[in-house]
Parts: sequence; structure tokens; C-alpha cells
Amino acid sequence: MKRRDELFDVKLHDPYMDKNIYKDPTICPSCHLVYHNKRWHRNEKLHEELVKSDKVDYKKCPACRKADDHYPLGVLRLTGDYVWKKKEEILNLVRNTAEAEEKRNPLARVMNIIETDEGLIIETTTESLARRLGRCIDKAHHGELEYIFSDSQKFLRVEWSKS
Ligand SMILES: [Zn+2]
Repeated sequence: MKRRDELFDVKLHDPYMDKNIYKDPTICPSCHLVYHNKRWHRNEKLHEELVKSDKVDYKKCPACRKADDHYPLGVLRLTGDYVWKKKEEILNLVRNTAEAEEKRNPLARVMNIIETDEGLIIETTTESLARRLGRCIDKAHHGELEYIFSDSQKFLRVEWSKS
């Protein structure tokens, strides 16, 4: 298992996180997140209040735009026979982990889960969610975990396998 956690400190640019394109407040019409005080919030009460006012902008949040454009910042690939044997268990863990991460960062989401001949591919809107998913799966199922970084763009590939 290879760990290069120090590389996570390298701050590469997420092209969807340019704050200048959003006015405060803005509502995402697809997922109802609210942009306020330079952050995106999941706040039903604030959302309800803002919907009634005319001082609010409507524009899709970075997570919904990444999903529309199919622009994942993290890709986790799970391979090996074990993955198919424990698929339901692993997918449950993925769901629970993603839910917990979304509470911390509402822009962190699983975009797609794709079954291919190669394995199970999970695409995420943030690098940190892909990293957390890999770490949680490895902690519960003890396989081989590897992080592969991109030098030029904000993108993380996580490979996990167990036969
Ligand atoms: Zn959204």
C-alpha cells in the first residue's frame, strides 16, 4: 500500500470553484444548496426564506455543474473478485461514507457508480471524497490501496483491489 498524503497539500485549482461567478445569495435550482458568505450551505430554512425574496440569484452549484459536464475530480476503481462477492456491502459503505462527507461539504458527492468488466468505478465531485471512500473501504475490507495524483490538474485516481 502506497501513501502520499503530503501531496494533498498541493493546492491545484478546481475550475468550478471560482467564487466570482456567484452573487451572494445564490440558490442552485437543481439541488437547492445556497451560496452565502463565500460558502455553499445545505440549509432548508435559509433556502425557503430566499425563495420568497427577489434578491436572490439562481445558478447551478459547482457540484451540479460537474455532474452536468461529467467532470469528476475523483475516480475510485475497485477491482478483483472480492469486489463482486461483497458488492452490496461495499456499495452500502460507499453510500454511508458519501452521506457523512456531504454533511461536512455539501459539494462532495458521488456522481456515478459504473459497473464495467474491469471493476466498479465510482466518480466523485471532489478529490477528498474519493480519498475517503478508498480509505474507508480499505479499512473495512483490507485490500490494496493506491492513490494516483495528477501533477497538472486537481484530480485524484484511487485504485483498490482484492482478489
Ligand atoms: Zn446544485
